Amino acid sequence: MMNVKYVGKSTKDLDHGSIHALQGNLTSCGKRIDENRNDWKMTTQHVTCDRKGCKKK
Ligand SMILES: [Zn+2]
Repeated sequence: MMNVKYVGKSTKDLDHGSIHALQGNLTSCGKRIDENRNDWKMTTQHVTCDRKGCKKK
């Protein structure tokens, strides 16, 4: 499955370089990726986000 990497500026909620699982236009932890498309990059690297939804059980 395709994951998505946040390549935008680090914010309170998102760290630059963090990798999230993807569900449509949202990360599995609930961030929209379609509003700032340039801040996100498709990747096959493993998820590093430890928020609910992205984190593996
Ligand atoms: Zn996430």
